[in-house]
Amino acid sequence: RKINEKHDKVFVTGCLDPNIQRNAPRENAAFVVLARNKELDGVIESIKSVERHFNRWFHYPYVFLNDGDFNSTFKETILNYTSSPVEFGKIPAEHWGYPDWVDPNVAKEAIRKQGDAAIMYGGMESYHHMCRFYSGFFYKHELLLKYDWYWRVEPEIKYFCDITYDPFVHMARANKTYGFTIAVKELKETVPNIFRYASAFKRKHNLTSQGLWEMFVEPKDGYNQDGSLKSTAPEDLPKEDPKYAQSKKELPEDILRGQPGQGTLKEIDGESMEGETYNMCHYWSNFEIARLSFFRSQEYEDFFNMMDRSGGFWTERWGDAPIHSLAAGALLSPSDIHYFRDFGYRHTTIQHCPANAPARQLPREPYLENTTPWDKRQEEDSYWAKWDAEKENGVGCRCRC
Ligand code: GDP
Ligand code: MN
Repeated sequence: RKINEKHDKVFVTGCLDPNIQRNAPRENAAFVVLARNKELDGVIESIKSVERHFNRWFHYPYVFLNDGDFNSTFKETILNYTSSPVEFGKIPAEHWGYPDWVDPNVAKEAIRKQGDAAIMYGGMESYHHMCRFYSGFFYKHELLLKYDWYWRVEPEIKYFCDITYDPFVHMARANKTYGFTIAVKELKETVPNIFRYASAFKRKHNLTSQGLWEMFVEPKDGYNQDGSLKSTAPEDLPKEDPKYAQSKKELPEDILRGQPGQGTLKEIDGESMEGETYNMCHYWSNFEIARLSFFRSQEYEDFFNMMDRSGGFWTERWGDAPIHSLAAGALLSPSDIHYFRDFGYRHTTIQHCPANAPARQLPREPYLENTTPWDKRQEEDSYWAKWDAEKENGVGCRCRC
């Protein structure tokens, strides 16, 4: 919270008229959707929500990517749900799967073991490929080269508020690089050694923290994440939801000691895990609005290559979320990050709802029908007005979570 107040403000409070906003100058940006044919229903759900809450006014293009070929049903169906330009791309083999310096049999064996250990998605080879693709390759796809910004969309997401301003324009204006809606803790057994390598990258490149790295370091006993001393007053914190509680499972010795990488990182492979440790925090990357030049920079390329060469995308099940987050921690400062706290957003079981959203207090349909045009929705305004701008964190527009 302290960091947010100091470095980052909500872009727009309450609702604007999107019909005016969309006529302002635009950014060179697109939605990016990685998906498989079998996920069509989930993708439609997502597109409907994106269109209904934002893109019916702003008409940003979509780029759909797949390691296989999209079939005609997928392509034709998608076109029914948006009037924006849509492109479908196939991911080239060199951006998906094992690089030539990895022995696929060794990698497959490591993946099989992660499956046996019941590590979430650990035993699923395609998931490892997906994470590596989103970590080091999506921004190199030929269909994305013409863009400066992207907004990531996954199957089965939902927006709860109207987004009546152009987030790309505001990211650019505020000189932001990376935007998120939700930050959560990673399952530690999926990334036991990720921090060792990220930390070594920082050290090897003589990078000094610009203040963001500390957000990913486990605070010492008695200290808060922001470095302040913990209050001795009795805490009155909400109880942790056991559904999202971290696994308390202890990690096996040989994993903590470091797995032998297949690359050129032998001295780091053997390092002990002393010094700072990862607090497991990461931006939940199924939503991202970010500047592609960050990923295309030499610094990010070096970071990805070092992480990749450790073998952690196979020996462990590193997600692209902690990779993006730790790269940001190493290379960016808090002021480069934007928290879209005004975007009501849900993916599967985790959601963020702006604090002022009047959940369950709204009239049902037809007030929020898909098809109700903005200018016919003035009626709603009196209903919403009392929620807008007047409360602390009163930031969302017409949210219904
Ligand atoms: P979760 O959100 O971590 O549970 O993972 P998902 O299953 O949603 O996968 C993340 C994203 O990658 C989604 O956009 C999926 O559609 C996509 N994805 C995952 N695996 C594959 C794959 O093997 N091929 C393709 N084309 N997309 C994939
Ligand atoms: Mn998903």
